[in-house]
Amino acid sequence: MILTVTMNPSVDISYPLEILKINSVNRIANVRKEAGGKGLNVTRVIKQAQEEVIATGLIGGVLGDYIVKRLDAINIKHQFFDIAQESRNCIAILHEGNQTEILEQGPTISVEEGTAFISKFSVLTDIAKVITISGSLPSGLEKDFYRKLIDISNKKNKKVLLDCSGKCLEIATSGPWLPYLIKPNKEEIEQLTGMSLDTGSIKSFVEMIDTHKSLYEIPWIVVSLGKEGAFAKVGGHYFAVAIPKIKVINPVGSGDATVAGLAIGINNIETPENTLKRAMAFGILNAMEAKTGYINMIKYTDIFSQVKVYPYFTR
Ligand code: ATP
Repeated sequence: MILTVTMNPSVDISYPLEILKINSVNRIANVRKEAGGKGLNVTRVIKQAQEEVIATGLIGGVLGDYIVKRLDAINIKHQFFDIAQESRNCIAILHEGNQTEILEQGPTISVEEGTAFISKFSVLTDIAKVITISGSLPSGLEKDFYRKLIDISNKKNKKVLLDCSGKCLEIATSGPWLPYLIKPNKEEIEQLTGMSLDTGSIKSFVEMIDTHKSLYEIPWIVVSLGKEGAFAKVGGHYFAVAIPKIKVINPVGSGDATVAGLAIGINNIETPENTLKRAMAFGILNAMEAKTGYINMIKYTDIFSQVKVYPYFTR
């Protein structure tokens, strides 16, 4: 069983428009509303791959009810903690080839709610082997909140796959309890290390990890590089992953699909090569669709076979 954590889920609303008229009325016929937040994208993709998944996190109010209804509609199991304040809406206006986003900050979580969630999480970890934690923290929770979840999971020998950025990532990767895997993109690893990454040379990635010994202690580091594939460190081994050129429809959420693939590979004890191929294939499949956090598994075998994993020997 894979447990996914989404601390600040949303109702994602997409408004497709020919032209966005500023300071005027815009009428929209084809509104799409979906349960959103990075962790719920991960959840949906795991479900589409027909693996066992259960979603947790915080929800509140009628928007929280809507999120749960959307998950029920596709038979996703969930165990959310109910909070007093309302969950948020996130709006994407798709216009003239652009995407303008309006993201609500979301609810503020009380100290008691944070503590109660930790207790619930601790119980849920018993049924999971792998736990994914994705996205930003809602206000009210301390920036070391994810580190607490990692500590609980590690003590129970559960593997945490962490996909967050900024201060949350910095704190969660500074020890003493480390996640089993992190999946930063180029910008996120550069911000974390203060070094720039040359995507054309895996040596540049090896140097980054060599310079940051605490990162070396993290068993899996997968740096996703959009259309350029990924670099990965698994234990003491480094890999460059090359991916095929595809017709991109919407790459938003490809990182989440990648995390879904990593979670399944690790949960099923696949080889690192196959896990990386699966993860890249899921990211690519997401980029080939208009919907976020959606993959068409019919195309999986074909895309998987086109992903190449090259081991890099450091000595
Ligand atoms: P997001 O935050 O939108 O979820 P991300 O920045 O975390 O994305 P990316 O590195 O953009 O993650 O994408 C993850 C993976 O998805 C890539 O490693 C690659 O396999 C696939 N992917 C993303 N964009 C493209 C693209 N334009 N063409 C082909 N594959 C892509």
